[in-house]
Amino acid sequence: MKTKFDYKILDNNVGIVNQILPHKNKWAWDLYITSLQNNWVPSDISMSDDINEWKNGTITDDEKHLVKRCLGFFAGSESLVSNNLLINAYKYITDAECRQYISIQIKEETVHNHTIVYICDSLNLDINEVYEAYASIPSIQAKDAYLIQVTEDLDAAAQKYSPDSHEFRKAVLNNLIIYYIICEGTLFYSGFAMLLAFNQQKKLKGIADQITYTVKDESNHVKFGVQLINTIAKEYPELWTPEYQATIKEYFDKAVELEVNYAKDVLPRGILGLNSSMFGDYIKYIANRRMESINLPYKYDAPHNPFPWLSEIMDLDTCTNFFEGRVKSYKTGALEDDF
Ligand code: MN
Ligand code: FE
Repeated sequence: MKTKFDYKILDNNVGIVNQILPHKNKWAWDLYITSLQNNWVPSDISMSDDINEWKNGTITDDEKHLVKRCLGFFAGSESLVSNNLLINAYKYITDAECRQYISIQIKEETVHNHTIVYICDSLNLDINEVYEAYASIPSIQAKDAYLIQVTEDLDAAAQKYSPDSHEFRKAVLNNLIIYYIICEGTLFYSGFAMLLAFNQQKKLKGIADQITYTVKDESNHVKFGVQLINTIAKEYPELWTPEYQATIKEYFDKAVELEVNYAKDVLPRGILGLNSSMFGDYIKYIANRRMESINLPYKYDAPHNPFPWLSEIMDLDTCTNFFEGRVKSYKTGALEDDF
């Protein structure tokens, strides 16, 4: 009888139970444990100061525009990530420990979707303005359309190719690259930077706290994605060709283009010490870290983080622990340099 050790990670071993022990991909189990310990609930974070600032004129119209656009992007994309995990990742990554992690990641994405609802409810935002942004704001629509296409492409590949074919595995890997590395690892980070900028000005602390906790989760998602992709590249070296690596570099170029357009839209004028041109540099800086993590031989000319203050905020060891007794300490160190 075959055991879990006879299968590689994309061997479409759907018929077997999720046998966690003995460990095979223990890194996935360890990340699952980290996620389990980082439990948080949006409604535990007080929004009363944010509500006052929103009403009493502390927050300018340009700042409100930024908040609404960022929420508009996350409202769509968080749900796309979670759909893709359910429809694709969980189905095709049949390894028991990875499935354990993906399950908890889906729960975290659900909490992130809840965050948007909680902020909209607290600030009494125009729901249509936030939830229809993916359809009505071109720079957000471009990002979401790109992601939706990737989910649909894998569905099309599943109709066309046998699950154990080279072509199909290529399509699965491509889906994971776009969602974990390009979307969660890169596209999400400009939105995080924009919302965390309020922290610098000691405004909208409730939103900033929720984003800090979201970033903590997302950094684990990216860590999982990186390990998963590196495992696939090792187990199926025929997928990890120099040509494919060059294709991934093109995805990063596309991500930079999408983010520059998005930043121009969100920041028509410089506010909070941010302006749209800084985001091209920031995304390239983040992209360099992602490319390095999956061993791509490429690098943008972006040696410095244009937002050095972010390193401090994203350093989760210094994050306020407002979940006394629940969230003890964070496993990660300086997130910015790490993930
Ligand atoms: Mn998320
Ligand atoms: Fe995520």
